[in-house]
Amino acid sequence: MTDRRHFIKIGLAGTAALAAGCTEIPKEEEGELHVAPVTKANGAVILSTWDHGLPANAKAWDVLASGGSILDAVEQGVMVTESDFTNRSVGLGGRPDRDGHVTLDACIQDHDGRAGSVAFVQRFEHPVSIARAVMEKTPHVMLVGEGAEQWALENGFSRNEIVLPEVMEEWKKWAATSNYKPVANIENHDTIGMVAMDATGKLAGSCTTSGMAYKIHGRVGDSPIIGAGLFVDGEAGAACATGVGELAIRTAGSHTVVELMRQGRTPDEACRETLQRIQRKHKELADMQIGFLAIRADGAYGGWGLRKGFSYALRTGDRDELVQAGHQFDE
Ligand code: ASP
Repeated sequence: MTDRRHFIKIGLAGTAALAAGCTEIPKEEEGELHVAPVTKANGAVILSTWDHGLPANAKAWDVLASGGSILDAVEQGVMVTESDFTNRSVGLGGRPDRDGHVTLDACIQDHDGRAGSVAFVQRFEHPVSIARAVMEKTPHVMLVGEGAEQWALENGFSRNEIVLPEVMEEWKKWAATSNYKPVANIENHDTIGMVAMDATGKLAGSCTTSGMAYKIHGRVGDSPIIGAGLFVDGEAGAACATGVGELAIRTAGSHTVVELMRQGRTPDEACRETLQRIQRKHKELADMQIGFLAIRADGAYGGWGLRKGFSYALRTGDRDELVQAGHQFDE
């Protein structure tokens, strides 16, 4: 007989599927979800990943305060991080791939689900702005590599040829001892993802990264992939991810968080349930981190990480702080 915990919230469609002899819909370990009180902003709310989110949120907040749209806010907020060349995981200050090339991924999405994305672009300071331009000026969602670069040059973006000697030195040291092997672990990444809601309830999100340090040349992570690194649907909510991108791609992580909120989960519950799905599907998660942030369409917000140490920047009318997210594993 089906265990109740294996048979939760599958609704009419799921019941019909079972009656028709289809495979049981996987369990979500619902009993282990901690139902925390829901935190809701009274007015606008901005969440972004890690401590570099604090100045990004400050910029996004100013944009809203001076009458900018929520889309302007999430774009200009993360542009602050992209322009910070001391940041080793976002923008042109990021660590290169294993061949020494800094390759950037970014995306943006609005309340109505319109989206733009670029992946594997080199030598541009603001990939998030190229992503927005792709959304606004083309019939497409995603441009990659040389094609994206060519299109950006034709559409008013200029190259930035900055090379940071200290970053190249660090890469050379890595190259000397690494056997040319990329490693996905807790230390070698930290995207900025931002999700935000304005005082009228309009949502938007953005995500931008140099990706995992010393990745294979050509590797694209979750950050520019709509549904993985970011997903916004004004009817349900917005979510973004940071951490080992492969985990977010395999589970369509941000989309999953939003769909769980659509089904009534709180943001914390939706993030946790998505992490539990990742835990179930990946036996080998040692040293890996992944975290999600979420805002539900009613203004409730939250975030959760796989392991201790995931923090996010929170900005509301009365809060401007770094929050330590809840986590699945203590180590
Ligand atoms: N998710 C990014 C990637 O896999 C890295 C990160 O967020 O830390 O490229």
